[in-house]
Amino acid sequence: MTQANYLWSPAAPASLPVQGTDARFPVTRIFCVGRNYHAHAVEMGRPVDKATAQPFYFTKSATTLVESGATVPYPTGTSNYHFEMELVVAIGQSGFRVSEADALGLIYGYAAGLDMTRRDLQLVARDQGRPWDLGKDFEKSAVCAEIIPVGNLGVLTQGAIALQVNGETKQSSDLDKLIWNIPELLADLSKYYHLQPGDLIYTGTPEGVGAVKVGDVITGQVEGVNSVALTIGAAE
Ligand code: MN
Repeated sequence: MTQANYLWSPAAPASLPVQGTDARFPVTRIFCVGRNYHAHAVEMGRPVDKATAQPFYFTKSATTLVESGATVPYPTGTSNYHFEMELVVAIGQSGFRVSEADALGLIYGYAAGLDMTRRDLQLVARDQGRPWDLGKDFEKSAVCAEIIPVGNLGVLTQGAIALQVNGETKQSSDLDKLIWNIPELLADLSKYYHLQPGDLIYTGTPEGVGAVKVGDVITGQVEGVNSVALTIGAAE
């Protein structure tokens, strides 16, 4: 194969460790689901009626990915930097217009993740009808633990999901409270995108989101999957 004549050496793809192997999961896209737990939708002032609503999504660049255990600087441009604890689904097979029944076949594995958010910028954008990018798609904002291969886990339908700041519980819910469950999300998202190996889907956060400050240590767990951690360092 001919070596491409790039102007400079492209960065290696973002990637995550995988439990039980030295091979890494290369990440190409990061999809995030908005308002997927009723109590969180209510706390954001935007309740969801599943009878009439459709799921919605935003994206983060793969370059925003940070591995669990990192220390990240308090981000620029915000004074209201929030945690959102989420179950992450890692896609390992291509799928387009998949049925809910076929959704499991697309799943490579799962991980605990944090959808870190500049809440002040997100809400300004939301309320002015602008894109959420400044609030969501910023450097080091997509935190993810190692991928746990799906194995016998199958489609996750229940399990505690929780987050603590400096050991104090801030979020505590259960995957059975997802408004759109995993098969419904994969079926819906694959109407709009050709899902591909390397895609990550952050499935939404439960209630209790809040701000962190320099020095805080965030920990989170998804029962039956794994844990994630993040330390907030000094601003640059
Ligand atoms: Mn989120």
